[in-house]
Amino acid sequence: MNEKSTPGLIFLNKMKSLSDFSFCIGNKRRNGIEPFLITSSVVMIICQRLVRKLCPKCKEPYEVAPEILEEMQFKVKPGEKITFFKPKGCDHCAKTGYKGRIGLYEVMTMSEQLQRAILARQSADVLKKIAIETGLVTLRQAGIRKIRQGITSIEEVLRATKPD
Ligand SMILES: [Zn+2]
Repeated sequence: MNEKSTPGLIFLNKMKSLSDFSFCIGNKRRNGIEPFLITSSVVMIICQRLVRKLCPKCKEPYEVAPEILEEMQFKVKPGEKITFFKPKGCDHCAKTGYKGRIGLYEVMTMSEQLQRAILARQSADVLKKIAIETGLVTLRQAGIRKIRQGITSIEEVLRATKPD
């Protein structure tokens, strides 16, 4: 696909590394694509990361140390009761504790603030900060939602995503 002549481009980032949308934009710049071509063509960047789902037949509830939650920016609301699960292993999951996979998604919609920052050649970190301020759900936060729902484990999310 010729990105330089594709207005309204939705860029699907399925890279295996721990890249997020800001890395993705940085990568385009490193490849010599001019900032104005990024801001004029890209309307959305979707980053996907797969995590393993806990086996529903053997997942085990356990207590998680508050420091671990704090370090991964897992915010527990006052009075909120979350049951955390860890993998165990049974015949249903071939003793792995996991069964199947689910996608985590980071959906970056191009905003005016981001366009300005990209044109000003701001760093990937700055771009990410702006996006979070304007409502971006990062891969890490998407993972935290799946932990909250008991779908995956803390270990899986730490493995598949990087800190915000
Ligand atoms: Zn199992």
